[in-house]
Amino acid sequence: MKVIKTIKKMQSLSHHEKELRGTIGLVPTMGYLHSGHISLVKRAKKDCDLIVVSIYVNPTQFGESEDYKRYPRDLERDGKLAKAAGTDILFVPSNKEIYPDGYHTYIRVEELSGKLCGISRPIHFRGVAIIVAKLFNIVKPTRAYFGWKDAQQLIIIKKMVEDLNMDVEVIGLPTVREKDGLAVSSRNEYLSKKERKIAPVLYQALQKVKRMVDSGENNSAKVLKEAEDIIIKVKIKIDYLKAVNLTDLKDVKKIEKNTLIAVAAWIGGTRLIDNILIK
Ligand code: AMP
Repeated sequence: MKVIKTIKKMQSLSHHEKELRGTIGLVPTMGYLHSGHISLVKRAKKDCDLIVVSIYVNPTQFGESEDYKRYPRDLERDGKLAKAAGTDILFVPSNKEIYPDGYHTYIRVEELSGKLCGISRPIHFRGVAIIVAKLFNIVKPTRAYFGWKDAQQLIIIKKMVEDLNMDVEVIGLPTVREKDGLAVSSRNEYLSKKERKIAPVLYQALQKVKRMVDSGENNSAKVLKEAEDIIIKVKIKIDYLKAVNLTDLKDVKKIEKNTLIAVAAWIGGTRLIDNILIK
């Protein structure tokens, strides 16, 4: 596995390797790799000839009061995990490489970026869109792999790719969970023992929604109220709990096929998100 730090090197290597080997699969991450990230790498490995994993904690997607500084980082451990999963190239650019002095360009995917997480994190998806667009330009992947765990991010990236005619296939993969249902996340690291114990309640609430829908209930307000009751029983502050349409992220009154049930909540100082898609 090669570790590359500069854009110039990454770009010329991608160019060369694409001609030499064929398809490139990109897995963009913020590092502190876990089984969710590894599932993306393994799938990329099945589909593509060359696997690039990027590790970059992107400052422009964090609000001023958010956790950019304390976001967990461990490049040495990440390197070992990425290598073991079959990564060919680990791309780890610095902030200076990505945002040199005088940097000005951003991308805003209108309509979608201001919904769900965009309400409490108004600049978040502008940062996500620009870093992913830049990574696409730098790595020139044939396919790029993202997790459904961050459903809104996946939907926004798919829209950006479509709207800007980017020549890359975006692939969304299922959320990897701990045994008790908690979605695996680098931010789970922040949870105290007590908080970790109650965190699976988010998934339990989503499962309650699924059970109600499976048994024929489709009234969003009714279903969401039951889910909310499960969450507020423990010490968790809900940011949002919504049933939205997958294409425009607008609230739906009736839960049906392709309704996304999405939740964001604060457990102490940690903001966690989760979702399920009604099939
Ligand atoms: P992050 O490092 O948190 O920015 O995540 C990098 C990529 O991994 C994103 O596409 C995430 O959606 C994906 N990811 C994060 N957690 C999980 C998970 N538990 N299961 C599947 N994919 C995940």
